[in-house]
This record gives sequence, C-alpha cells and structure tokens, in this order.
Amino acid sequence: MRKLFLLALFFPVSLLAQTQLDLSYYLPDGVKFDPAIPTPKSVIGHEVGEWHVSHDRLVNYMYALDKASDRISLEVTGYTYEGRPLLLLTITSPKNHQNLEAIRLQHLQLSDPARSGSLDVKSMPAVFYMGCSIHGNEPSGANAGLVGAYYLAAAQGPEIEKYLDNTIILFDPSFNPDGLHRFSSWVNSRKSISISPDPNDTEHNEPWPGGRTNHYWFDLNRDWMVAQLPESQARIRKFQQWKPNLLTDHHEQGTNASFFFMPGVPSRVHPLTPPKNQELTRKLGEYHAKALDQIGSLYFTQEGYDDFYYGKGSTYPDTQGAVGILFEQASSRGHAQESVNGILRFPFTIRNHFTTMLSSLKAINEMREEFLNYQRDFYKTASAEAAKDPVKAYIVGASKDRTRTFHFGEMMLRQNVEFYKLPSTQTIGGKTYEPDAAFVVPANQLNYRIVKAMFEKRSKFEDSLFYDISTWTLPLAFGMDYEELKAPPAMGERVTELKMPVGKINGDKATYAYVFESYGYYAPRAMYRLLSHGIRIKVSNDVFNHSNGKRFERGTIMIPLENQELSPEQVSVYIKEVAEKDGIDVYGFNTGLDYKGVSLGSSSFTALQKPVIAMVIEGGASANDAGEMWHLLDTRFNIPVTLIPQSVVNTANISKYNVIIFPPGNFSVINDTGKDKLKSWTQNGGVIVAFENANTWLANAGIGKYETKKDKEDNKDVAKPKPYADIQENNGAQETSGAIFQADGDLSNPLLFGYWDPKIPVFKSNNLFFEKGKGAYSNPLVYGSNPLLSGYISKPNYDKLKNTSVIGVSNVGRGKVIGFSEGMTFRAFWYGTAKMLMNAVYYGGSLSNEVGSR
Ligand SMILES: [Zn+2]
Repeated sequence: MRKLFLLALFFPVSLLAQTQLDLSYYLPDGVKFDPAIPTPKSVIGHEVGEWHVSHDRLVNYMYALDKASDRISLEVTGYTYEGRPLLLLTITSPKNHQNLEAIRLQHLQLSDPARSGSLDVKSMPAVFYMGCSIHGNEPSGANAGLVGAYYLAAAQGPEIEKYLDNTIILFDPSFNPDGLHRFSSWVNSRKSISISPDPNDTEHNEPWPGGRTNHYWFDLNRDWMVAQLPESQARIRKFQQWKPNLLTDHHEQGTNASFFFMPGVPSRVHPLTPPKNQELTRKLGEYHAKALDQIGSLYFTQEGYDDFYYGKGSTYPDTQGAVGILFEQASSRGHAQESVNGILRFPFTIRNHFTTMLSSLKAINEMREEFLNYQRDFYKTASAEAAKDPVKAYIVGASKDRTRTFHFGEMMLRQNVEFYKLPSTQTIGGKTYEPDAAFVVPANQLNYRIVKAMFEKRSKFEDSLFYDISTWTLPLAFGMDYEELKAPPAMGERVTELKMPVGKINGDKATYAYVFESYGYYAPRAMYRLLSHGIRIKVSNDVFNHSNGKRFERGTIMIPLENQELSPEQVSVYIKEVAEKDGIDVYGFNTGLDYKGVSLGSSSFTALQKPVIAMVIEGGASANDAGEMWHLLDTRFNIPVTLIPQSVVNTANISKYNVIIFPPGNFSVINDTGKDKLKSWTQNGGVIVAFENANTWLANAGIGKYETKKDKEDNKDVAKPKPYADIQENNGAQETSGAIFQADGDLSNPLLFGYWDPKIPVFKSNNLFFEKGKGAYSNPLVYGSNPLLSGYISKPNYDKLKNTSVIGVSNVGRGKVIGFSEGMTFRAFWYGTAKMLMNAVYYGGSLSNEVGSR
C-alpha cells in the first residue's frame, strides 16, 4: 500500500483525489501495531492528511487513545477563550504510570542543587514535552500529532518499549485549539474534489485574521515567559510541574522553503543560555538529519530563526535547564499547493513532522543521561553565575498602583521565581517602595537565569538581526519603579500566593462626593463601571485637597452625589465595586470647599461621556495590534467595542460612536464615501485614536495632519559599493524589531493623567518617527536626545528617533485625531502604556485645541 501511494505522488493532481491515502505512508517500515488501538481514521472519519483535522475530532481521538491504551493518561489542563479544552497526554510505559508522582518528584530534584548531587541519572527517565501547531494555520504539526500519538500507543517491539521505559512524554496535540479550528474550518470548507494547488485558489487565501493566532489574535508563541493568555498559563503550569529536558515545537514556514530544525543562527543565541545547550541542540540535529535523509526530504539549519527571545516555545526552555527545538515545515497552507519544489502536498508536510517526532524520541533516549546531567549542571551553575553578578537583588513595585504590582508578582509566580515581601517602606534612587506594593527578588536563586532575563537591560549585541524583539525588560513594560541592588536588602516573607488587591473606602458615609485617583491600572474599568450605570463622573484638571489634608493631582475622578439619577445609596453600591473589584481606594467628601486648591464645583472638572467605541478591522489592518486592543478593552476593562470591518465603514451609520480606533495597517478597503463619512464624523466632534502607520492613511485621506521625520537630504552621490552577499544582512540591520525608549511626558496633559513619573518607558517596533508639533502644548510625550533604555536600533534610525514625538494630535473641526507613533498595549504585557490609549478614549474629545496644533 505504501509503495502504491508513493507512485501516486507523481500522478497528475486531478488523479490525486482518487488515490488511496493510507496511514502506512507515514509509519516506518517493519513495526507491528497493536490492533486494539484505534487508528485515527476509525475515530475522526478520514485518513490523516485527507482533510485538516478539526480540533473537536482531534480531541475525540485523544480521548479514544486514553481509553484504549495503558501507556496514555489524558488530562484537561485548561480552556481557551472559546471554551476548547487544552489537552495534555502523559505517555510512558504502564510501569512508569504506576509510579508517576515519585518519578516526577525525583525528576524535580535535578533542579535543586541541594539534592541533585545524590541522584543517579543512569536510572532516571528523561522528560520530553512535545507540542504541536501553536500557530493554528501551521497545521501539519497537529495532524502529525494524530500519527505520533497512534504510534506511541500502538507500536510494538523492544525499541518502543525501551523508549517508553526511559521517557515520560508530555504530549500536547494542539497548543492553539481556537486557531487550529478556525483554519481547519476554512481549508476544509474550500476544498475541491479535484484539489486545486493554484496559490490563487480561495483555499490558499484564508480571510482576515487568519488561523495563526488565538481568539484575541495573539501570537501564542510570544507569550511563554510573560504568560498573559490562558493557553500559556495552563501550559506553563504543566511545564513547571515537570521541568522537562526537551521541548519540541512543530511549526510551518513559507510554501517555497524546505524543512528547518534547530540550531538557529549561532550569533543570535541569547547570552544567558549556556553554550552546552547549543551543543546538545546540534547533536539532536544529527538525529533529525539522518531521519530526513532516509525519506529524502530537503532541510536546512543554522541559517534562519534564533534562540534569542525567551517568549518563544523553542527558546523559553533554555531558561529552565531544558533544550527547546523549533521545527519549521514548508506549508501547503491547504491540501496541496504549487511551490518552487513542485507541488507540496499536505500529507508530505505531516510526514516530515512525524518523522522528526520519532527522531527526537530516539535522540532523547540515546542522549538521556547527557540531558539529565545538563539540567542538573544548569541549576548548579546558576548559583555560581549569580555570585559573579554585581546585582544581588531587584526591588520592584508601583507605589501608587497595587494592582499592577499584583500582576507583576503573578507573572513571577507562574515561573516559580522566588521573591519576597518588603518588610517596611523604603526609598531608593528617589523612589518610594511600599510593603503592600513592592517585592524584593534576590538574584541568587535557582531561577537566577529567568530572573535575569526578566529584569535585565541590554544594548550590546553580537548580531544586529533579530527574529523577534531585541528586548523586553519586564519592569519597564509593566511601568514599574525598580532598582538593581548591589547588596541584598532586608526581606519579609516569601510570596507564594497572591490575591487581587481590594481598595478601601475612606469616609464611608460620604454626603457630598466620592473621589478616586487614576493611577490604578483598572481606573478605566472603574470609570466605565460608573458611566455604564448612568452615573455622572468628572475628571479634575487641577489640584484639590480633602479636608483631612490629602492632596489629589490632576486626573483624579470625582463623583458628585447631587443630581444623579441614582440615589446616594445606589451610587455607593457601585463605588463599593470600584474598591472591591477594581482595587482602587476611594475617598468620601462631605464638603466641596478647598481654599488650597480648587473646590469641587470648579470648572476645572470636566464631565465625562460614556465612550461608545468602534475599532476598524479587516483588510490591511494589523490583526495582532487590533487583537491587543480588543483584549484590553474586552477582558481587562469590560468596555464594549464594536469591531467594524473596513467594508462596513463604507455603508454603515457611524454616528452612534464617539471614538473610533484605527490599529496600525492600511485601510484601502475604505472608499471615498467612507473617507468623507469619517471626515465629517470627526468634524462633528468624533475622536479618532490611531496607531503607527494608520496615521499615514488618515492624513492621505485628509483626516488629520501628520509629518514624519525624513532623511536629511536625498543623497545624490553614488553609494559606497557593498558586496551583493550582504544585502539581506544590511537591510535587516535597519529594522527596529522591538526596543525600549524613555519618553518624557507632561503629566498635566490629560493624555498623561494617571502617571506619576514623567519618565515613561515606551516600546517601539517600527521605523516611524513623528516630527514634533509646532505648538507650545502639542508635544505631551517626546523622546529626548538620549532615549535608548534597552534593545537594538541602528545608528541612522536612532539619530532620526531623537527629539521626536510619541503623540501627535490634529484638530479636525470639533473633533480630534490622536495619533500614537507606537502601539500602547504590546502583547498584553505592556501594562505601563495602556493607560495612554484609555486617556485618548476618555479625554480626547475634551482636549484643548491648543494641543492639536497640527
Ligand atoms: Zn509558527
């Protein structure tokens, strides 16, 4: 049967559908299979590779294997946003299953130098985490998982029995169920009986946003370290429970490529990763090469991809004494597609992944002791590395925002980082750290390397090319105050669990007004909570004081009790929710009089409107960026947003919205009618909040003005000659793939309300530079002359960035365009800048025209 199919590969495409595809195409020769184990086809209803497996059928098959095989136990580790189960199959010999908890506990001792010395690794199994298709439209991994799981359950003979005795396999058949399901629905629903390999066919052109991402359009393969998303949280819990030795991550790349396995580009390995990690990676590569040689599949290695950003699945394990391996198969992105290598068929892509699943299993078995010793040494040397490090501890906190401190702590707990409460208030480097809003993180701990990876700033690099971002310094991303300490400070109790902070209501029985500061991360949610119940709220544009002496800065929210539609008692119910659910301290006022500042009836308080928001999506809009903002508004702030397709902008009545968000991208689907409508909507008082190059589209459409920094003079001279071979390298070095810069803010501008430090770290991942506005008030947030905090930017781009603006406001009739040169809520972990986006939403409409001088 197998030979028959191979012949069929050379048949014309139209005959392909009539040719029998059989499981034996994938499986190695000479292996017997237990007939009591169901084949994939017997459960999912089609042969592997004939259709794209849907997630529910994949789940059915995994349950069937769990039922039939004493080598497998299945658990649900969590759920996706769309309610799909996240599965983990533990696959090992029945004997190991009897003893699993003892094996796990012994395995964990490898990462504890106090106990690892006495372990005899000769008799210990290795732990191998195998995961598939974190990008949902890279489905050959998950489909290969059907064959892989069948093989592990059903294969007979001494080799597989030995492997199962010596390995605990943690198998996740689909890292991204929602994305896999979205993609499989698309390609299956567009498949013809006579498969069309034409790249123009609808099957190969999936609609926006594509199946790569999860429900909120996040790239899950950037979230392993910060774990802000439910899929990652469930996975990291299992990872930390087991601390595997090897993690494999099965992806797809462009249709014209071949197959890639790690190592990636050697000069782009993160310096915190020990060299032995790459040595093991190279040795593993020899196993993959041999297996792929045997089936004649083309492959490459070392020329692309890298082990730099620890948020990726193949790099995160490098912080944990494990080795992470990226596999990239050229994608048929459908059932068959023309490529420079001939027609690329889905079954072929599945077979390459399955083949490297087996080569990985063989490798981890033959290299078992090396892997176990590597993990033991990794944790032993962590302490020596920490001893050499001049930084002995970090102090981190947000004195005015306990909720952000809480989220930062939550992130560290997920990674088993050891950290402590602060015993008393401390002032370091001019910043105050409060015991309930700060932590101390000692450097000398088992997790030294991941702590270092979370906290370090880096601006020197061996290479100037990055597969992903060049830096992520997490205290800067979270907008925290922090300090590197050269001597370990006093520490309180170790933090092992955290609860979302609850705010206090000071002066419970207010008769006149309630007031809260807007420093809290959840202040935008609290404001919407009140506005959505019809409660009138105001924001202060001046300083005022409580009768007890407490001073309130600009940006404080005031809720008068007089002339509300709800009674004071009813208002107080929602005020209580602000304290309890949003973690914000509220202050009751019994008088409005303040001689030191303004009284509460002052015109410096601006009444706020309930935002009614639409965000323009589809077409050329960036799904990642749109998803970040959708996720922020929907899941964190519970603020409704209408996701309006570009084509609908052309036809819909948009007068019901008062804010329209434009994520980065191009909006060419919006026609002249749509442009005119947007323009008159803005002239009538609408607020557009636009990001990055969306501002270019808007300016070209005559909605808002906008200038970017140009190259000094077009150079008329003949360019200095450079070798052709360096084109890629030279162009790549000009990309700003993601770096952190300090911007200086005017905290009296409403767009900066809720910030307490005018030095604000901002993440930049583009080469767009806003010229400063001409007016005295038109540059509320600017990059200075030496703004780089961490990461890589080329010299020419750095020169352009200096002294440019982050925010540019245009007056359009009675409305505004608030333009941001950068995204403000990158990958859900840039907590620090999200407030600016929300300020634009809440305060954009009432900004003085003096700000919008453009
Ligand atoms: Zn991928």
